[in-house]
Amino acid sequence: MLNWYDVTQDDLAALIQGWGQPSFRTKQVWGWLYERLAASVEDMTDLPKPLREKLRSEGTIGTLELVTGQQSKDGTEKRLYRLPDGRLIESVLMVYEDGRRTACISTQSGCAMGCVFCATGQMGFFRHLTATEIVEQALAFARELNQRGERLSNVVLMGMGEPFHNYDASLSAIRRLINDLGIGARHITVSTVGLVPQIRQFAEEGLQVTLAISLHAANDTARGALLPVNRRWPLSDLIAACHHYVKKTGRRVTFEWALIHGQTDTQIQAHELAKLLRGMLCHVNVIPLNPTRGFAGSPSEIAAANNFIAILHDYNISATVRIRRGIDIDAGCGQLTTRYIQPNDIPSVVEMP
Ligand code: SAH
Ligand code: SF4
Repeated sequence: MLNWYDVTQDDLAALIQGWGQPSFRTKQVWGWLYERLAASVEDMTDLPKPLREKLRSEGTIGTLELVTGQQSKDGTEKRLYRLPDGRLIESVLMVYEDGRRTACISTQSGCAMGCVFCATGQMGFFRHLTATEIVEQALAFARELNQRGERLSNVVLMGMGEPFHNYDASLSAIRRLINDLGIGARHITVSTVGLVPQIRQFAEEGLQVTLAISLHAANDTARGALLPVNRRWPLSDLIAACHHYVKKTGRRVTFEWALIHGQTDTQIQAHELAKLLRGMLCHVNVIPLNPTRGFAGSPSEIAAANNFIAILHDYNISATVRIRRGIDIDAGCGQLTTRYIQPNDIPSVVEMP
């Protein structure tokens, strides 16, 4: 069985020709897959029956199996999917008042980077996702939104996993989000914990996609304690790679900074950060730590967050406090994990919010 989302437009054209169908059917089927977001071949009502039969017997529309869905009181939605080999992943949709609909999608089942405050890091690494498995998470939300007359506007590769550890699949997925799904490159963000060679490689891709870096600390001792990757690529290498990226692309880098009460939210840290980023075209997103079972730190008060960014502003560094979202359903940044899901917890009937 093929997965129609694995098939390129050229391969689809060859198949359709082989079935004795006129070539204009290719665009039609492609449109059903990526624009009209058909959930099944039955939906493709303007195709002749023999073609529908072929599509149905030779392939499936996607392979992600929806296990369960949850909705937060702030409108954030979370989905749990089972992959064909039984592995589980989560993805999240954020719904904003200004009309944006942002899918936060995973690039791996688990993560090998071991950041101490991240639930995905706490669960360990299972496997890389394929480009199609990454794209399908966005397609699934796009389809749901389509059905209620809305449109998926943004995609962030900020779910489970480290996109640059799964570089080729993540890059292929980004290109398909742009070319097949029609998401504007400027509406896509890829976030990395700081894999320096891949940041340099990404600078050469010629993409107008936003690059986000999970920074969280401004000296090697503090960062190494939170993010083991810092022992491989210390801050000097990371910041040099970011300068290179800005120079090469002319694009602004976003830095992510989780505010842990008494640990990463002090004035000293804010000054240290400002000095580290001096002279770089960048933006800092600070976000009070989201709770995870494996980390005892607590989030900063909003006043501490405001003080922190005020110091950055004094240095003319652009910075904002990000509102936490989906915390009540563990859908916030760094909260995605399938570690605590037991086989018995997985319902046989899918309940949608
Ligand atoms: N692996 C990539 C992308 C996924 S993590 C990366 O690390 O950048 C998405 C974001 O959530 C990252 O910025 C990460 O540092 C942050 N994050 C992880 N755990 C968090 C927590 N408990 N609270 C707030 N942000 C967290
Ligand atoms: Fe992996 Fe990112 Fe979580 Fe670190 S913060 S463990 S890199 S998903």
